[in-house]
Amino acid sequence: MKVDCVGLACSECCRRYWITVLPKELEKQARLLRISEKNFIEKNCVLHLNLFPVEGPGGPLVVSSVFLPKKIASKLKKHFEPLPSHFIVLPSIAFKRGKNGACIFLSKNLCKIYRARPRQCELFPFISIEKIDLALEYSFCMALKHKPKIPRVLLEKAQLLNVTKYFEAVEKNGFENIWGFLPKKGVACLENNFLCAISKKDFLELFNIG
Ligand code: SF4
Ligand code: SF4
Repeated sequence: MKVDCVGLACSECCRRYWITVLPKELEKQARLLRISEKNFIEKNCVLHLNLFPVEGPGGPLVVSSVFLPKKIASKLKKHFEPLPSHFIVLPSIAFKRGKNGACIFLSKNLCKIYRARPRQCELFPFISIEKIDLALEYSFCMALKHKPKIPRVLLEKAQLLNVTKYFEAVEKNGFENIWGFLPKKGVACLENNFLCAISKKDFLELFNIG
């Protein structure tokens, strides 16, 4: 399911989130702009680390808090007392955002890579894996306001599978081997909310591959 944003001149969802991409999506975006993937990444992307607290060890991409880079651990301590023993750490590549928070590809309310935009942009606001009240969760979304009786819908299965396969591949083959080229700088987020800027060195050391 998709909402119809045409004519709403909204783009609010392009101003609020870090937009992560999958390798195949990035290939298409670079092709659309007629630049190499390396140039695309260098110019438009950052490393993106998303952390979620968990009860204990085990499971994919779970690390002990002891191994978190100092900067991340100190920022997390402002949110937790005591610090959870483990975190799920999800590494990806995201689009840079401007000072106003908007995605680097947003220009005058239009997407500069619209034909190759990430699937999560196409799907918004149907991006949750849990049943939520969309109108309440995304009260800023004008399309939902125009269709208040929209049903509760979960993230489409195909996209969920793509994302799951990506993280399985990262775990099996290593982050660096999934991407041919990496951005120089990164951001760490706690449950999708910005935590702090991080270096490429810290990012890679976390996965013992730097
Ligand atoms: S916030 Fe809603 S209406 Fe606005 S651009 Fe995004 S999906 Fe469309
Ligand atoms: S890629 Fe395009 S649709 Fe997606 S957030 Fe950026 S500007 Fe919006």
